[in-house]
Amino acid sequence: MKKVTTIAGDGVGKEVMEAGLTILESLDLNYDFIESKAGFECFQNCGTTIPEETIKNAKKSAATLFGAITSTPSEKSPIITLRKELDVFANLRPIKTFEGVNSLFNNIDFLIIRENTEGLYSQIESFEKEEENKKNSKITKTIAKRVITKNASTKICEFAYKTAIKNNRKKITCVHKENILKKTDGIFKESFYKVAEKYSAKHPDIKANDYYIDATAMYLITKPQEFDIIVTSNLYGDILSDEGAGLVGGLGLSPSANIGDKNGLFEPVHGSAPDIEGKGLANPIAMILSISMMLEFLKEDFYSKQINKAVENVLKSKKIATPDLGGNSKTSDVTMAIKKELESII
Ligand code: ATP
Ligand code: MG
Repeated sequence: MKKVTTIAGDGVGKEVMEAGLTILESLDLNYDFIESKAGFECFQNCGTTIPEETIKNAKKSAATLFGAITSTPSEKSPIITLRKELDVFANLRPIKTFEGVNSLFNNIDFLIIRENTEGLYSQIESFEKEEENKKNSKITKTIAKRVITKNASTKICEFAYKTAIKNNRKKITCVHKENILKKTDGIFKESFYKVAEKYSAKHPDIKANDYYIDATAMYLITKPQEFDIIVTSNLYGDILSDEGAGLVGGLGLSPSANIGDKNGLFEPVHGSAPDIEGKGLANPIAMILSISMMLEFLKEDFYSKQINKAVENVLKSKKIATPDLGGNSKTSDVTMAIKKELESII
């Protein structure tokens, strides 16, 4: 039987994972779900933020579902380790408005595709001692290296085009800061337009353009309907997707997928939310929509679509919502409402 690894993690990660598994129970799926450990609590119990066994399980699974973890200063980040180990080079974050949810705009529906393996997430940082201070050896300088390769840039832009074709999207915007980071963002932009040219003959209906990251941050507020697919490097994508989440109702509604040639890793965009941990207030929808993305990846298209539909219907009814959406329902109320709705449509 095919396997799915589940890593609940810390804080609300555990709460939304429980909700997600409750939803999965309603579906007639042939997968073995293997529970694995990672995160802060795992570090306290077994001295590592991500045990080898977890990595092994994830590698032999058809997909991995991740809750959230509380970061451990000076220890390696489990999610970044997993992204590297599984070589999931593309991070997809849909930004979509839902009927029944208060948001700044209606009819927003775009996809942020973020390069997932390099950029400032290479985590190559160093301390340096400046010349005049060498004697008293004070660290006065810190450096972070930002690695951008032609290979990874081309691969993520290719992925953006394939995603556009598959999902009938008509415009791809490359986001960069090439006026300042001429070499690194230069190669990203150049790779994008090379890929765009390659696809333009067969797919002239897909438009390509590019914006600076700062301008994009503004356009997301002034004309978000203009976007269809955004393709960008690691940190820019991270920041823009939180901004995007804010545009359409917050982190409680924002799912994500990390996709590679073989593996898929699915997680809500939000973190472990220590401020609401243990209160039963976490919105489970970001996790439930991440499960929908996982099922699409596993070619369980019907269930994937029906989960989206069930979430849409529950949000539209405006009867049940967690506090982040202005309601006073609990995580379990929202989960059960979605489960009931889902069972009525499958
Ligand atoms: P971490 O270091 O784990 O990322 P954080 O403090 O950055 O933790 P996030 O989880 O990123 O916290 O959350 C940011 C804000 O969004 C917090 O106020 C949190 O309560 C809220 N939030 C995050 N996830 C949810 C959720 N599922 N439901 C409701 N509110 C959430
Ligand atoms: Mg956070």
